[in-house]
Amino acid sequence: MSEAPQGRPQVRKVCVIGAGVMGAGIAAQVANAGIPVLLLDIVRDPADRSGVARAAVDTILKADPAPFMGKGAARLVEPGNIEDDLPRIAECDWIVEAIVERLDLKQALYAKVEACRAPHAAVSSNTSTIPLASLIEGRSDAFRRHFLITHFFNPPRYMRLLEVVGGPDSDPAMVTRITDFADRALGKRIVPARDTPGFIANRIGTLWLESAVNAAFDLGLTVEEADAIAGKPMGVPGTGIFGLLDLVGLDLMPHVRQSLTASLPAGDAYQAVARSHPRIEAMLAAGLTGRKGKGGFYRLN
Ligand code: NAD
Repeated sequence: MSEAPQGRPQVRKVCVIGAGVMGAGIAAQVANAGIPVLLLDIVRDPADRSGVARAAVDTILKADPAPFMGKGAARLVEPGNIEDDLPRIAECDWIVEAIVERLDLKQALYAKVEACRAPHAAVSSNTSTIPLASLIEGRSDAFRRHFLITHFFNPPRYMRLLEVVGGPDSDPAMVTRITDFADRALGKRIVPARDTPGFIANRIGTLWLESAVNAAFDLGLTVEEADAIAGKPMGVPGTGIFGLLDLVGLDLMPHVRQSLTASLPAGDAYQAVARSHPRIEAMLAAGLTGRKGKGGFYRLN
């Protein structure tokens, strides 16, 4: 990008904000490519200021079936907390936001990022469904030029797909710089998408997943019966549709549903299947969010 300091590699340092399922995985992949990463999350324990992000790194180091990140790469991930360490994003050429799927929280974060980022730095969101136009409401022209959506898939270590959405104001050279890096350094297969509800993957994928899960419940199938068919035999990776919900996180689905139902027209096919089954509601009330938490449909922890 033309504004990058002379002689500076295109993406020399990355910041990932949000050390959850996706953020930690993205940070690990960047570190494995030999690029230093600042990984920020919210302070939970004031006595352990970078605890959440450090715990995320430890989880990746111990991940099954095989550790993804070697100790050498792990040393490239600097854990930090959003409160104190946000000014350090000024060191980064690419800032990837991977916090919870809520427009208000993402917008509030971008206002702070705008004040601290280096003028040349790209900022991207890993949002599943929130329109780019909404994310950048109220931001400066300079921020808009440097903003795009980079939608990684779960788990980032295995999923090569990267959906990329630029807006009308996104600088094409900046988008090329990030997609080139994702291609060459991270081995991603880039699929450009338009800024339409759910982009491509979640426009199709969420309609399919919610339909399948609700149909299975309505038919009175057990989780195992459903996944025995709607799993590997039908080309669904992992354990099947219920295994996929465990992987994605049951707590993410209400946000995805809210965002999609708000942005799609009333008569859209998705509106008819967009409902949370009482069984899932009961699991959420019991704190069962899937793999990242105390477990989900399958015994995971
Ligand atoms: P998650 O709940 O596992 O992690 C979110 C993390 O963000 C948490 O650790 C939380 O403490 C942190 N956080 C929240 N607000 C913050 C803030 N203001 N500053 C710093 N950290 C903050 O969520 P996830 O599943 O990793 O999803 C993250 C994003 O990626 C969402 O936009 C989601 O839609 C998207 N996404 C998720 C998946 C998936 O399968 N889970 C796949 C693709 C995209």
